[in-house]
Amino acid sequence: MQAPQAGRHFSFATGPDVELTADYVVVGSGAGGAAAAITLARAGRSVVLCEAGPWRDPEDYPHTMYGTMRDMFNNWGSLVATGDSIIPVVQARLVGGTPVINSAIVVRTPADVLEDWRVRHGLGGVFNEDTIGRAQDRIEQELQIQPSEAEILGPSSERMLQALERLGLEGHPTMRNVANCQGVMQCLQGCRNRAKQTSNVLWIRELLQLGGTVLSCAEVERVAIERGRASGIRGHFRHPEERNRGAGFRVQATRGVFIAASATGSAPLLQRSGVRLPYLGQGWRAHPGAGVLGVYDEHINMHRGPSQAAASIHYRADIGIKLESLSLPLELIAARVGGAGPQLMHKLAQYRKTAMWVAAVRCDAVGSIKRTLWGSTALHFVPSKKDLWRLREGLKIVSKLHFEVGATKVWPGVYGMPAEITPDTLDLFDQAPLDNKAYTWVLSHLFGGCSLGADPATSVVAPDLHLRGVRNLHVVDASAIPTTLGVNPQHTIMAMAMVAAERLVNEERP
Ligand SMILES: Cc1cc2nc3c(=O)[nH]c(=O)nc-3n(C[C@H](O)[C@H](O)[C@H](O)COP(=O)(O)OP(=O)(O)OC[C@H]3O[C@@H](n4cnc5c(N)ncnc54)[C@H](O)[C@@H]3O)c2cc1C
Repeated sequence: MQAPQAGRHFSFATGPDVELTADYVVVGSGAGGAAAAITLARAGRSVVLCEAGPWRDPEDYPHTMYGTMRDMFNNWGSLVATGDSIIPVVQARLVGGTPVINSAIVVRTPADVLEDWRVRHGLGGVFNEDTIGRAQDRIEQELQIQPSEAEILGPSSERMLQALERLGLEGHPTMRNVANCQGVMQCLQGCRNRAKQTSNVLWIRELLQLGGTVLSCAEVERVAIERGRASGIRGHFRHPEERNRGAGFRVQATRGVFIAASATGSAPLLQRSGVRLPYLGQGWRAHPGAGVLGVYDEHINMHRGPSQAAASIHYRADIGIKLESLSLPLELIAARVGGAGPQLMHKLAQYRKTAMWVAAVRCDAVGSIKRTLWGSTALHFVPSKKDLWRLREGLKIVSKLHFEVGATKVWPGVYGMPAEITPDTLDLFDQAPLDNKAYTWVLSHLFGGCSLGADPATSVVAPDLHLRGVRNLHVVDASAIPTTLGVNPQHTIMAMAMVAAERLVNEERP
Protein backbone atom coordinates (compact mmCIF):
# COMPACT_ATOMS: atom_id res chain seq x y z
CA MET A 1 0.00 0.00 0.00
CA GLN A 2 1.41 3.35 -0.94
CA ALA A 3 -0.01 6.71 0.06
CA PRO A 4 -0.95 9.02 -2.83
CA GLN A 5 0.96 12.22 -3.53
CA ALA A 6 -1.46 14.81 -2.21
CA GLY A 7 -4.57 15.25 -0.08
CA ARG A 8 -5.62 13.33 2.97
CA HIS A 9 -5.60 9.57 2.82
CA PHE A 10 -6.37 7.52 5.91
CA SER A 11 -5.83 3.77 5.75
CA PHE A 12 -5.85 0.87 8.17
CA ALA A 13 -4.81 1.94 11.65
CA THR A 14 -5.48 0.97 15.20
CA GLY A 15 -5.89 3.55 17.94
CA PRO A 16 -8.33 6.41 18.33
CA ASP A 17 -11.32 6.76 16.05
CA VAL A 18 -11.09 9.04 13.02
CA GLU A 19 -13.81 11.72 13.09
CA LEU A 20 -14.42 13.81 9.97
CA THR A 21 -16.99 16.28 8.69
CA ALA A 22 -17.66 17.10 5.03
CA ASP A 23 -20.44 18.29 2.75
CA TYR A 24 -20.77 14.79 1.30
CA VAL A 25 -19.61 11.29 2.09
CA VAL A 26 -19.46 8.69 -0.69
CA VAL A 27 -19.41 4.97 0.17
CA GLY A 28 -17.57 2.83 -2.41
CA SER A 29 -15.00 4.06 -4.93
CA GLY A 30 -15.96 1.95 -7.98
CA ALA A 31 -17.61 3.03 -11.22
CA GLY A 32 -20.45 4.89 -9.50
CA GLY A 33 -18.73 6.13 -6.34
CA ALA A 34 -15.65 7.60 -8.02
CA ALA A 35 -17.74 9.34 -10.69
CA ALA A 36 -20.04 10.87 -8.05
CA ALA A 37 -17.14 11.90 -5.79
CA ILE A 38 -15.21 13.73 -8.52
CA THR A 39 -18.36 15.50 -9.72
CA LEU A 40 -19.10 16.76 -6.21
CA ALA A 41 -15.49 17.83 -5.64
CA ARG A 42 -15.30 19.68 -8.97
CA ALA A 43 -18.44 21.55 -7.94
CA GLY A 44 -16.47 22.84 -4.95
CA ARG A 45 -17.96 20.54 -2.30
CA SER A 46 -15.89 18.88 0.39
CA VAL A 47 -15.98 15.09 -0.04
CA VAL A 48 -14.92 12.06 1.99
CA LEU A 49 -14.70 8.86 -0.08
CA CYS A 50 -14.80 5.62 1.96
CA GLU A 51 -13.59 2.40 0.34
CA ALA A 52 -13.59 -1.04 2.01
CA GLY A 53 -10.57 -2.24 0.01
CA PRO A 54 -6.94 -1.10 -0.03
CA TRP A 55 -5.19 1.53 -2.14
CA ARG A 56 -3.03 -0.03 -4.84
CA ASP A 57 -0.91 1.71 -7.43
CA PRO A 58 -0.54 -0.14 -10.76
CA GLU A 59 3.04 -1.14 -9.98
CA ASP A 60 1.67 -2.94 -6.88
CA TYR A 61 -0.92 -4.95 -8.79
CA PRO A 62 -0.20 -8.68 -8.56
CA HIS A 63 1.36 -10.44 -11.56
CA THR A 64 -0.90 -13.47 -11.43
CA MET A 65 -4.62 -14.18 -11.40
CA TYR A 66 -4.12 -15.95 -8.08
CA GLY A 67 -2.65 -12.71 -6.67
CA THR A 68 -5.53 -10.71 -8.12
CA MET A 69 -8.08 -12.92 -6.40
CA ARG A 70 -6.13 -12.70 -3.16
CA ASP A 71 -5.49 -8.95 -3.15
CA MET A 72 -8.12 -7.29 -5.31
CA PHE A 73 -11.25 -9.42 -5.30
CA ASN A 74 -13.88 -9.34 -2.62
CA ASN A 75 -13.14 -12.29 -0.29
CA TRP A 76 -11.07 -14.12 -2.93
CA GLY A 77 -14.04 -14.00 -5.31
CA SER A 78 -15.93 -16.38 -3.04
CA LEU A 79 -19.38 -14.77 -3.24
CA VAL A 80 -21.92 -16.95 -5.03
CA ALA A 81 -25.53 -16.68 -6.10
CA THR A 82 -27.66 -19.62 -5.09
CA GLY A 83 -31.02 -20.91 -6.20
CA ASP A 84 -31.14 -24.14 -8.15
CA SER A 85 -27.34 -24.06 -8.58
CA ILE A 86 -24.28 -22.13 -7.42
CA ILE A 87 -23.04 -19.33 -9.71
CA PRO A 88 -19.82 -17.43 -8.84
CA VAL A 89 -20.20 -13.64 -8.50
CA VAL A 90 -17.08 -11.60 -9.29
CA GLN A 91 -16.51 -8.18 -7.71
CA ALA A 92 -13.42 -6.21 -6.75
CA ARG A 93 -12.62 -4.68 -3.37
CA LEU A 94 -10.01 -1.93 -3.68
CA VAL A 95 -9.76 1.80 -4.34
CA GLY A 96 -11.18 2.22 -7.84
CA GLY A 97 -13.54 -0.74 -7.43
CA THR A 98 -14.35 -3.34 -10.06
CA PRO A 99 -13.21 -1.21 -13.04
CA VAL A 100 -9.63 -1.80 -11.85
CA ILE A 101 -10.00 -5.52 -12.65
CA ASN A 102 -12.50 -5.31 -15.50
CA SER A 103 -11.87 -5.62 -19.23
CA ALA A 104 -12.13 -1.85 -19.82
CA ILE A 105 -14.91 -2.25 -22.37
CA VAL A 106 -16.96 0.93 -22.60
CA VAL A 107 -20.37 0.97 -24.28
CA ARG A 108 -22.86 3.84 -24.37
CA THR A 109 -26.28 3.34 -22.83
CA PRO A 110 -28.50 2.02 -25.63
CA ALA A 111 -31.38 4.33 -26.62
CA ASP A 112 -33.93 1.52 -26.10
CA VAL A 113 -32.85 1.23 -22.45
CA LEU A 114 -33.30 4.96 -21.80
CA GLU A 115 -36.71 4.81 -23.49
CA ASP A 116 -37.70 1.86 -21.29
CA TRP A 117 -36.62 3.79 -18.18
CA ARG A 118 -38.73 6.74 -19.32
CA VAL A 119 -41.84 4.73 -20.10
CA ARG A 120 -41.83 2.02 -17.42
CA HIS A 121 -39.83 3.62 -14.61
CA GLY A 122 -40.58 7.34 -14.87
CA LEU A 123 -36.89 8.32 -15.09
CA GLY A 124 -36.95 10.33 -18.33
CA GLY A 125 -36.72 13.68 -16.52
CA VAL A 126 -33.33 12.78 -15.01
CA PHE A 127 -31.67 10.15 -17.15
CA ASN A 128 -32.27 10.70 -20.85
CA GLU A 129 -30.33 10.85 -24.11
CA ASP A 130 -29.37 14.44 -23.44
CA THR A 131 -28.13 14.16 -19.81
CA ILE A 132 -26.56 10.70 -20.14
CA GLY A 133 -25.19 11.53 -23.59
CA ARG A 134 -23.43 14.66 -22.33
CA ALA A 135 -21.96 12.83 -19.34
CA GLN A 136 -20.75 10.02 -21.60
CA ASP A 137 -19.13 12.52 -23.99
CA ARG A 138 -17.16 13.88 -21.03
CA ILE A 139 -16.24 10.43 -19.68
CA GLU A 140 -15.05 9.31 -23.11
CA GLN A 141 -12.74 12.28 -23.34
CA GLU A 142 -11.41 12.01 -19.79
CA LEU A 143 -10.85 8.24 -19.82
CA GLN A 144 -9.38 8.32 -23.35
CA ILE A 145 -11.93 5.88 -24.69
CA GLN A 146 -11.01 4.51 -28.10
CA PRO A 147 -11.45 1.40 -30.22
CA SER A 148 -8.95 -1.40 -29.59
CA GLU A 149 -6.27 -0.73 -32.20
CA ALA A 150 -5.65 -3.20 -35.03
CA GLU A 151 -1.96 -3.61 -34.06
CA ILE A 152 -2.75 -4.86 -30.56
CA LEU A 153 -6.00 -6.78 -31.10
CA GLY A 154 -4.25 -10.10 -30.62
CA PRO A 155 -4.79 -13.32 -32.56
CA SER A 156 -7.90 -14.54 -30.71
CA SER A 157 -9.86 -11.29 -31.18
CA GLU A 158 -8.63 -10.92 -34.77
CA ARG A 159 -9.93 -14.38 -35.53
CA MET A 160 -13.27 -13.70 -33.91
CA LEU A 161 -13.75 -10.56 -36.01
CA GLN A 162 -12.87 -12.57 -39.15
CA ALA A 163 -15.41 -15.25 -38.21
CA LEU A 164 -18.14 -12.67 -37.60
CA GLU A 165 -17.43 -11.03 -40.94
CA ARG A 166 -17.47 -14.34 -42.81
CA LEU A 167 -20.85 -15.23 -41.35
CA GLY A 168 -22.19 -11.75 -42.12
CA LEU A 169 -22.67 -10.86 -38.45
CA GLU A 170 -22.05 -7.50 -36.81
CA GLY A 171 -18.65 -7.38 -35.15
CA HIS A 172 -16.36 -4.63 -33.85
CA PRO A 173 -13.15 -4.05 -31.91
CA THR A 174 -14.18 -3.11 -28.37
CA MET A 175 -14.10 0.53 -27.25
CA ARG A 176 -11.91 0.69 -24.13
CA ASN A 177 -10.65 3.17 -21.55
CA VAL A 178 -6.95 2.67 -22.26
CA ALA A 179 -3.95 4.70 -23.36
CA ASN A 180 -0.93 3.09 -25.01
CA CYS A 181 -2.27 -0.43 -24.51
CA GLN A 182 0.48 -2.95 -25.23
CA GLY A 183 -1.90 -5.92 -25.52
CA VAL A 184 -0.46 -8.06 -22.75
CA MET A 185 -3.72 -9.69 -21.53
CA GLN A 186 -3.50 -8.02 -18.11
CA CYS A 187 -6.87 -6.20 -17.98
CA LEU A 188 -8.33 -8.61 -15.43
CA GLN A 189 -5.23 -8.34 -13.24
CA GLY A 190 -5.42 -4.54 -13.22
CA CYS A 191 -2.85 -3.59 -15.92
CA ARG A 192 0.54 -3.02 -14.36
CA ASN A 193 1.47 -1.05 -17.52
CA ARG A 194 -0.84 1.78 -16.39
CA ALA A 195 -2.64 1.58 -19.74
CA LYS A 196 -6.07 1.29 -18.14
CA GLN A 197 -7.54 4.70 -17.37
CA THR A 198 -9.35 3.83 -14.15
CA SER A 199 -10.47 6.14 -11.38
CA ASN A 200 -7.72 5.11 -8.96
CA VAL A 201 -5.16 6.59 -11.38
CA LEU A 202 -7.33 9.56 -12.45
CA TRP A 203 -10.40 10.80 -10.62
CA ILE A 204 -9.48 9.70 -7.09
CA ARG A 205 -6.09 11.37 -7.40
CA GLU A 206 -7.79 14.50 -8.67
CA LEU A 207 -10.21 14.31 -5.74
CA LEU A 208 -7.23 14.38 -3.36
CA GLN A 209 -5.71 17.30 -5.25
CA LEU A 210 -9.00 19.16 -4.85
CA GLY A 211 -8.73 18.72 -1.09
CA GLY A 212 -10.93 15.63 -0.78
CA THR A 213 -10.32 12.85 1.71
CA VAL A 214 -10.00 9.14 0.94
CA LEU A 215 -10.41 6.41 3.54
CA SER A 216 -9.15 3.03 2.29
CA CYS A 217 -9.51 -0.34 4.05
CA ALA A 218 -12.53 1.46 5.52
CA GLU A 219 -15.64 -0.67 5.59
CA VAL A 220 -18.76 1.37 6.21
CA GLU A 221 -21.05 -0.51 8.58
CA ARG A 222 -23.98 1.85 8.94
CA VAL A 223 -25.54 4.96 7.52
CA ALA A 224 -26.72 7.27 10.29
CA ILE A 225 -30.34 8.22 9.71
CA GLU A 226 -31.94 10.69 12.10
CA ARG A 227 -35.52 11.88 11.81
CA GLY A 228 -35.83 10.81 8.18
CA ARG A 229 -32.55 12.37 7.11
CA ALA A 230 -29.13 10.80 6.45
CA SER A 231 -26.46 12.57 8.50
CA GLY A 232 -23.32 10.48 7.93
CA ILE A 233 -21.77 7.04 8.16
CA ARG A 234 -19.69 4.97 10.53
CA GLY A 235 -17.50 1.91 10.26
CA HIS A 236 -14.15 0.37 11.11
CA PHE A 237 -10.88 0.05 9.25
CA ARG A 238 -10.12 -3.56 8.33
CA HIS A 239 -6.67 -4.94 7.65
CA PRO A 240 -6.59 -5.91 3.94
CA GLU A 241 -4.99 -9.30 4.57
CA GLU A 242 -5.76 -10.31 8.13
CA ARG A 243 -9.22 -8.70 8.01
CA ASN A 244 -8.92 -7.79 11.69
CA ARG A 245 -10.72 -4.69 12.91
CA GLY A 246 -8.79 -1.48 13.36
CA ALA A 247 -9.86 1.93 14.58
CA GLY A 248 -13.38 3.17 14.08
CA PHE A 249 -14.26 6.06 11.78
CA ARG A 250 -17.24 8.38 11.57
CA VAL A 251 -18.06 10.94 8.91
CA GLN A 252 -20.63 13.63 9.50
CA ALA A 253 -22.09 14.69 6.13
CA THR A 254 -23.84 18.02 6.21
CA ARG A 255 -25.31 17.84 2.70
CA GLY A 256 -25.69 14.20 1.79
CA VAL A 257 -24.63 10.57 1.77
CA PHE A 258 -24.00 8.78 -1.54
CA ILE A 259 -24.08 4.98 -1.48
CA ALA A 260 -22.10 3.21 -4.23
CA ALA A 261 -21.10 -0.08 -2.62
CA SER A 262 -22.21 -2.05 -5.73
CA ALA A 263 -25.09 -4.36 -6.57
CA THR A 264 -23.81 -6.77 -3.93
CA GLY A 265 -22.97 -4.17 -1.26
CA SER A 266 -25.47 -1.31 -1.29
CA ALA A 267 -28.73 -3.08 -0.43
CA PRO A 268 -27.18 -5.09 2.45
CA LEU A 269 -25.61 -1.88 3.83
CA LEU A 270 -28.96 -0.09 3.81
CA GLN A 271 -30.66 -3.11 5.38
CA ARG A 272 -28.03 -3.07 8.11
CA SER A 273 -28.70 0.65 8.61
CA GLY A 274 -32.34 -0.02 9.44
CA VAL A 275 -33.91 0.95 6.11
CA ARG A 276 -37.11 -1.06 5.70
CA LEU A 277 -38.51 -0.57 2.22
CA PRO A 278 -40.43 -3.45 0.62
CA TYR A 279 -38.39 -3.44 -2.61
CA LEU A 280 -34.97 -3.06 -0.94
CA GLY A 281 -32.90 -6.09 -2.02
CA GLN A 282 -35.43 -7.04 -4.70
CA GLY A 283 -35.16 -6.52 -8.47
CA TRP A 284 -31.67 -7.99 -8.63
CA ARG A 285 -30.62 -8.73 -12.22
CA ALA A 286 -27.58 -9.86 -14.20
CA HIS A 287 -25.90 -10.64 -17.50
CA PRO A 288 -24.22 -13.96 -16.71
CA GLY A 289 -21.82 -15.31 -19.29
CA ALA A 290 -20.14 -18.55 -20.28
CA GLY A 291 -17.50 -19.38 -22.86
CA VAL A 292 -16.51 -22.01 -25.37
CA LEU A 293 -12.88 -22.86 -26.06
CA GLY A 294 -12.08 -23.40 -29.73
CA VAL A 295 -9.14 -25.73 -30.35
CA TYR A 296 -7.06 -25.07 -33.47
CA ASP A 297 -4.27 -27.00 -35.21
CA GLU A 298 -1.95 -24.00 -35.12
CA HIS A 299 -0.90 -21.74 -32.27
CA ILE A 300 -3.42 -19.01 -31.46
CA ASN A 301 -1.58 -17.53 -28.46
CA MET A 302 -4.59 -15.94 -26.83
CA HIS A 303 -2.29 -14.41 -24.22
CA ARG A 304 -1.33 -11.81 -26.88
CA GLY A 305 -3.72 -8.88 -27.02
CA PRO A 306 -6.06 -7.25 -24.51
CA SER A 307 -8.32 -9.52 -22.44
CA GLN A 308 -11.37 -8.62 -24.53
CA ALA A 309 -10.83 -6.84 -27.87
CA ALA A 310 -13.63 -8.18 -30.10
CA ALA A 311 -17.39 -8.11 -29.63
CA SER A 312 -20.71 -8.48 -31.43
CA ILE A 313 -24.13 -7.05 -30.60
CA HIS A 314 -25.70 -8.86 -33.56
CA TYR A 315 -28.03 -10.91 -31.34
CA ARG A 316 -28.62 -8.30 -28.61
CA ALA A 317 -32.18 -7.48 -29.68
CA ASP A 318 -33.54 -10.85 -30.81
CA ILE A 319 -31.92 -13.58 -28.70
CA GLY A 320 -30.68 -11.25 -25.95
CA ILE A 321 -26.98 -12.10 -25.96
CA LYS A 322 -23.70 -10.26 -26.51
CA LEU A 323 -20.68 -12.13 -27.91
CA GLU A 324 -17.12 -11.29 -26.88
CA SER A 325 -13.62 -12.68 -27.10
CA LEU A 326 -12.23 -13.39 -23.63
CA SER A 327 -8.58 -14.33 -23.28
CA LEU A 328 -7.80 -15.88 -19.92
CA PRO A 329 -4.54 -16.89 -18.27
CA LEU A 330 -3.69 -20.57 -17.98
CA GLU A 331 -4.73 -20.84 -14.32
CA LEU A 332 -8.29 -19.72 -15.09
CA ILE A 333 -8.48 -21.97 -18.14
CA ALA A 334 -7.40 -24.84 -15.86
CA ALA A 335 -10.39 -24.12 -13.64
CA ARG A 336 -12.70 -23.92 -16.66
CA VAL A 337 -11.77 -27.05 -18.63
CA GLY A 338 -12.39 -29.50 -15.79
CA GLY A 339 -10.99 -32.98 -15.42
CA ALA A 340 -7.95 -34.08 -13.45
CA GLY A 341 -4.61 -35.85 -13.83
CA PRO A 342 -3.38 -36.74 -17.35
CA GLN A 343 -6.70 -35.68 -18.93
CA LEU A 344 -6.38 -32.16 -17.49
CA MET A 345 -2.68 -31.93 -18.35
CA HIS A 346 -3.39 -33.01 -21.93
CA LYS A 347 -5.93 -30.21 -22.26
CA LEU A 348 -3.67 -27.60 -20.68
CA ALA A 349 -0.82 -28.61 -22.99
CA GLN A 350 -3.03 -27.28 -25.82
CA TYR A 351 -3.42 -23.83 -24.19
CA ARG A 352 -1.53 -22.05 -26.97
CA LYS A 353 -3.83 -23.60 -29.57
CA THR A 354 -7.06 -22.46 -27.92
CA ALA A 355 -9.19 -19.32 -28.05
CA MET A 356 -12.04 -18.52 -25.67
CA TRP A 357 -15.13 -16.65 -26.87
CA VAL A 358 -18.14 -16.04 -24.68
CA ALA A 359 -21.85 -15.31 -24.77
CA ALA A 360 -23.22 -12.95 -22.10
CA VAL A 361 -26.96 -13.30 -21.54
CA ARG A 362 -29.39 -10.48 -20.88
CA CYS A 363 -31.42 -12.51 -18.39
CA ASP A 364 -35.13 -12.12 -17.72
CA ALA A 365 -34.66 -13.67 -14.30
CA VAL A 366 -35.10 -11.38 -11.30
CA GLY A 367 -33.34 -12.32 -8.07
CA SER A 368 -32.87 -10.84 -4.62
CA ILE A 369 -30.13 -9.94 -2.19
CA LYS A 370 -30.15 -9.67 1.58
CA ARG A 371 -27.94 -9.46 4.58
CA THR A 372 -28.23 -12.56 6.72
CA LEU A 373 -28.55 -12.49 10.51
CA TRP A 374 -24.90 -13.54 10.84
CA GLY A 375 -23.70 -10.73 8.58
CA SER A 376 -23.03 -12.47 5.28
CA THR A 377 -24.72 -11.71 1.95
CA ALA A 378 -27.34 -14.08 0.56
CA LEU A 379 -27.94 -13.76 -3.15
CA HIS A 380 -30.75 -15.64 -4.84
CA PHE A 381 -30.74 -15.85 -8.63
CA VAL A 382 -32.26 -18.53 -10.85
CA PRO A 383 -31.97 -18.03 -14.62
CA SER A 384 -35.26 -18.82 -16.38
CA LYS A 385 -35.68 -21.57 -18.99
CA LYS A 386 -35.64 -18.82 -21.65
CA ASP A 387 -32.35 -17.52 -20.22
CA LEU A 388 -30.88 -21.02 -20.42
CA TRP A 389 -32.07 -21.31 -23.99
CA ARG A 390 -30.40 -17.94 -24.76
CA LEU A 391 -27.12 -19.17 -23.30
CA ARG A 392 -27.33 -22.47 -25.19
CA GLU A 393 -27.97 -20.63 -28.46
CA GLY A 394 -25.08 -18.30 -27.68
CA LEU A 395 -22.67 -21.16 -27.06
CA LYS A 396 -23.74 -22.80 -30.31
CA ILE A 397 -23.21 -19.58 -32.27
CA VAL A 398 -19.80 -19.05 -30.67
CA SER A 399 -18.85 -22.64 -31.58
CA LYS A 400 -19.99 -22.05 -35.16
CA LEU A 401 -17.76 -18.96 -35.27
CA HIS A 402 -14.79 -21.02 -34.11
CA PHE A 403 -15.40 -23.65 -36.82
CA GLU A 404 -15.74 -20.93 -39.47
CA VAL A 405 -12.13 -19.87 -38.92
CA GLY A 406 -10.48 -23.25 -38.58
CA ALA A 407 -11.12 -24.73 -35.14
CA THR A 408 -11.08 -28.51 -35.38
CA LYS A 409 -13.11 -28.96 -32.21
CA VAL A 410 -14.57 -26.97 -29.34
CA TRP A 411 -14.77 -27.67 -25.62
CA PRO A 412 -18.31 -26.59 -24.73
CA GLY A 413 -18.00 -27.06 -20.97
CA VAL A 414 -21.64 -28.14 -20.70
CA TYR A 415 -22.53 -31.04 -18.42
CA GLY A 416 -24.49 -33.62 -20.38
CA MET A 417 -22.72 -32.84 -23.67
CA PRO A 418 -19.60 -34.58 -25.00
CA ALA A 419 -16.41 -32.93 -23.76
CA GLU A 420 -15.46 -32.18 -27.38
CA ILE A 421 -17.69 -31.11 -30.25
CA THR A 422 -16.59 -31.23 -33.91
CA PRO A 423 -18.19 -29.36 -36.84
CA ASP A 424 -20.36 -32.38 -37.72
CA THR A 425 -21.69 -32.67 -34.14
CA LEU A 426 -22.48 -28.96 -33.66
CA ASP A 427 -26.23 -29.67 -33.53
CA LEU A 428 -25.75 -31.58 -30.27
CA PHE A 429 -26.03 -28.13 -28.65
CA ASP A 430 -29.76 -28.29 -29.44
CA GLN A 431 -30.06 -31.24 -27.06
CA ALA A 432 -27.98 -29.75 -24.24
CA PRO A 433 -29.99 -29.68 -21.02
CA LEU A 434 -31.87 -26.47 -20.17
CA ASP A 435 -30.69 -26.91 -16.63
CA ASN A 436 -28.80 -24.22 -14.77
CA LYS A 437 -26.49 -26.79 -13.14
CA ALA A 438 -25.18 -27.92 -16.54
CA TYR A 439 -23.40 -24.60 -17.34
CA THR A 440 -20.25 -23.01 -15.96
CA TRP A 441 -21.33 -19.42 -16.05
CA VAL A 442 -20.12 -16.48 -14.03
CA LEU A 443 -21.95 -13.34 -12.88
CA SER A 444 -20.03 -10.12 -13.49
CA HIS A 445 -22.55 -7.55 -14.80
CA LEU A 446 -24.96 -7.02 -11.90
CA PHE A 447 -27.89 -4.65 -11.39
CA GLY A 448 -30.51 -3.77 -8.79
CA GLY A 449 -31.29 -4.19 -5.15
CA CYS A 450 -31.84 -0.42 -4.72
CA SER A 451 -33.77 0.20 -7.94
CA LEU A 452 -34.67 3.67 -9.12
CA GLY A 453 -38.22 4.31 -10.26
CA ALA A 454 -41.48 6.15 -9.90
CA ASP A 455 -43.51 3.27 -8.47
CA PRO A 456 -42.90 2.75 -4.72
CA ALA A 457 -43.89 -0.92 -5.10
CA THR A 458 -40.95 -1.59 -7.45
CA SER A 459 -38.35 0.97 -6.44
CA VAL A 460 -36.21 2.12 -3.54
CA VAL A 461 -34.87 5.40 -4.90
CA ALA A 462 -37.41 7.91 -6.25
CA PRO A 463 -36.87 9.89 -9.48
CA ASP A 464 -35.88 12.86 -7.26
CA LEU A 465 -32.78 10.71 -6.47
CA HIS A 466 -33.49 10.47 -2.72
CA LEU A 467 -34.06 7.13 -1.04
CA ARG A 468 -37.77 6.83 -0.34
CA GLY A 469 -38.56 8.27 3.09
CA VAL A 470 -34.98 9.45 3.76
CA ARG A 471 -33.75 12.88 2.70
CA ASN A 472 -30.11 13.33 1.65
CA LEU A 473 -29.53 9.62 1.01
CA HIS A 474 -28.70 8.73 -2.62
CA VAL A 475 -27.66 5.54 -4.43
CA VAL A 476 -25.39 5.96 -7.46
CA ASP A 477 -24.10 2.55 -8.51
CA ALA A 478 -25.22 -0.58 -10.36
CA SER A 479 -27.69 -1.34 -7.58
CA ALA A 480 -29.85 1.64 -8.64
CA ILE A 481 -30.25 0.42 -12.23
CA PRO A 482 -33.82 -0.87 -12.61
CA THR A 483 -33.28 -3.15 -15.64
CA THR A 484 -30.59 -5.05 -17.46
CA LEU A 485 -28.85 -3.17 -20.30
CA GLY A 486 -27.78 -5.82 -22.78
CA VAL A 487 -24.36 -4.17 -22.97
CA ASN A 488 -21.41 -3.70 -20.61
CA PRO A 489 -22.53 -1.48 -17.73
CA GLN A 490 -19.67 0.70 -16.47
CA HIS A 491 -20.28 3.62 -18.86
CA THR A 492 -23.95 3.78 -17.85
CA ILE A 493 -23.11 3.60 -14.14
CA MET A 494 -20.47 6.37 -14.34
CA ALA A 495 -22.78 8.60 -16.37
CA MET A 496 -25.76 8.06 -14.05
CA ALA A 497 -23.62 8.87 -11.01
CA MET A 498 -22.33 12.08 -12.63
CA VAL A 499 -25.80 13.20 -13.71
CA ALA A 500 -27.22 12.46 -10.23
CA ALA A 501 -24.41 14.25 -8.37
CA GLU A 502 -24.62 17.29 -10.65
CA ARG A 503 -28.38 17.52 -10.27
CA LEU A 504 -28.28 17.19 -6.48
CA VAL A 505 -25.61 19.88 -6.17
CA ASN A 506 -27.67 22.20 -8.37
CA GLU A 507 -30.74 21.61 -6.22
CA GLU A 508 -29.00 22.26 -2.90
CA ARG A 509 -30.74 24.69 -0.64
CA PRO A 510 -28.53 27.71 0.11
C1 LIG B 1 -14.19 -9.54 -14.27
C2 LIG B 1 -15.11 -8.41 -14.64
C3 LIG B 1 -14.99 -7.81 -15.88
C4 LIG B 1 -15.85 -6.77 -16.24
N1 LIG B 1 -15.65 -6.14 -17.43
C5 LIG B 1 -16.39 -5.05 -17.72
C6 LIG B 1 -16.11 -4.29 -18.88
O1 LIG B 1 -15.17 -4.58 -19.61
N2 LIG B 1 -16.91 -3.22 -19.14
C7 LIG B 1 -17.96 -2.87 -18.34
O2 LIG B 1 -18.67 -1.92 -18.67
N3 LIG B 1 -18.20 -3.55 -17.20
C8 LIG B 1 -17.43 -4.60 -16.86
N4 LIG B 1 -17.65 -5.25 -15.68
C9 LIG B 1 -18.70 -4.75 -14.78
C10 LIG B 1 -18.34 -3.41 -14.14
O3 LIG B 1 -17.00 -3.38 -13.72
C11 LIG B 1 -19.30 -3.16 -12.98
O4 LIG B 1 -20.62 -3.20 -13.51
C12 LIG B 1 -19.08 -1.84 -12.30
O5 LIG B 1 -17.76 -1.70 -11.83
C13 LIG B 1 -20.04 -1.71 -11.13
O6 LIG B 1 -19.87 -0.44 -10.56
P1 LIG B 1 -20.33 -0.14 -9.08
O7 LIG B 1 -19.96 1.26 -8.77
O8 LIG B 1 -21.75 -0.55 -8.93
O9 LIG B 1 -19.51 -1.17 -8.16
P2 LIG B 1 -17.95 -1.45 -8.05
O10 LIG B 1 -17.22 -0.90 -9.20
O11 LIG B 1 -17.84 -2.90 -7.76
O12 LIG B 1 -17.50 -0.62 -6.77
C14 LIG B 1 -18.04 -0.85 -5.49
C15 LIG B 1 -16.97 -0.52 -4.46
O13 LIG B 1 -17.60 -0.40 -3.19
C16 LIG B 1 -16.75 -0.96 -2.21
N5 LIG B 1 -17.57 -1.31 -1.05
C17 LIG B 1 -18.49 -2.31 -0.96
N6 LIG B 1 -19.05 -2.31 0.26
C18 LIG B 1 -18.48 -1.29 0.96
C19 LIG B 1 -18.64 -0.80 2.29
N7 LIG B 1 -19.52 -1.34 3.14
N8 LIG B 1 -17.87 0.24 2.68
C20 LIG B 1 -16.99 0.82 1.83
N9 LIG B 1 -16.79 0.38 0.55
C21 LIG B 1 -17.54 -0.65 0.13
C22 LIG B 1 -16.13 -2.16 -2.92
O14 LIG B 1 -14.95 -2.57 -2.26
C23 LIG B 1 -15.91 -1.61 -4.32
O15 LIG B 1 -14.64 -1.05 -4.47
C24 LIG B 1 -16.84 -6.32 -15.32
C25 LIG B 1 -16.95 -6.92 -14.07
C26 LIG B 1 -16.10 -7.95 -13.72
C27 LIG B 1 -16.23 -8.57 -12.37
